[in-house]
Amino acid sequence: MTATQERAVALEKGPARVAPLLRVTGLSVSYAPPKKGVGLGTGAALTDASLDVRPGEIVGIVGETGSGKTTLARATVGLVRPAAGRIEFAGQDMGALRGRALRDFRRSGQVQLVFQDPLRSLDPDLTVAELVREPLDVAGTLPRSERHERVADSLRLVGLDPETMLGRRPRELSGGQRQRISLARAISTRPQLLFCDEPVSALDVSNRNLVLSLLDRLRTELGLAVVIIAHDLSSLAGIADRVAVFYRSRVVEQGPIQAVLERPAHPYTGLLTASAPSVTQVDRLRPDQLRPEPGARDWPVHGACVFAARCRFAHDACVEQPPSLPLAGDREAACHVAGEWRAQLTTDHRPDTEES
Ligand code: SF4
Repeated sequence: MTATQERAVALEKGPARVAPLLRVTGLSVSYAPPKKGVGLGTGAALTDASLDVRPGEIVGIVGETGSGKTTLARATVGLVRPAAGRIEFAGQDMGALRGRALRDFRRSGQVQLVFQDPLRSLDPDLTVAELVREPLDVAGTLPRSERHERVADSLRLVGLDPETMLGRRPRELSGGQRQRISLARAISTRPQLLFCDEPVSALDVSNRNLVLSLLDRLRTELGLAVVIIAHDLSSLAGIADRVAVFYRSRVVEQGPIQAVLERPAHPYTGLLTASAPSVTQVDRLRPDQLRPEPGARDWPVHGACVFAARCRFAHDACVEQPPSLPLAGDREAACHVAGEWRAQLTTDHRPDTEES
């Protein structure tokens, strides 16, 4: 049985019952030297982040630009070295890999990244055949005689015809075709884990749906685990199994996507869902219900809770004591009043109700 078949069999048991393929625990990354007394300092790109990804699972990571989403992907593939924490991939402690072992891991293509802008990430001088074959040549694990067939297979898996595509160059392709070439290139090594950084943000609606349903199909056919990085929740609804919400370098909420979208537990997630009209919620929220009231007290940006300065429900404990994550079941939210703030909304902040 091939590794891909083993992963597909494991997937049939259901992602939640399979051991994590990727386990990130307490991961912190800083792009600037830490300052005395302020932890990782102003260069903190990721702070104490924990996340599991299981085989065959699609996990969405959502947050604003600079919230730490891409840094998590870069740290996982060994492009940045963590300041603290642990990354385990397929049971292997990635922090223990050094020198040749780390190089070999990167070249193996077990974890692949798909970048946001295929036009910039694909070499314009190479043909599709060369682009899709390149990771195979770097990995060197597949005999040369089998690489051409693997390239053709990978193109077919992303819905492209090898006959018409192999000789073309990126500028001769549409935006949707280029993104699918990026995917074909990423899956050519048959990775176990795929990080897709804003894979549909540059595409029109029809290509966006096509690429998302393609990712859904690939995770089933190849037993792939997929992490989709996005800045809006609506692109993850209907495809991700779970979601992790990042805010200012921290994971502030995570859980099964349906539960998080319908009943966000963290006020920031509430604000995101309220700002995405296409997202279905149990009680529809409005952004103005969640923003601080005019004249409300100013809370420090660098307090214990990173969201305090924008939070309508901030109180003294929020700047003094770091909010913890665990909630009931498999949900987590870094908020002292996780989920409970909704009760305050229904009594105090429903202008429609108050006026009637
Ligand atoms: S811990 Fe406090 S400031 Fe932070 S999100 Fe919760 S209520 Fe708001």
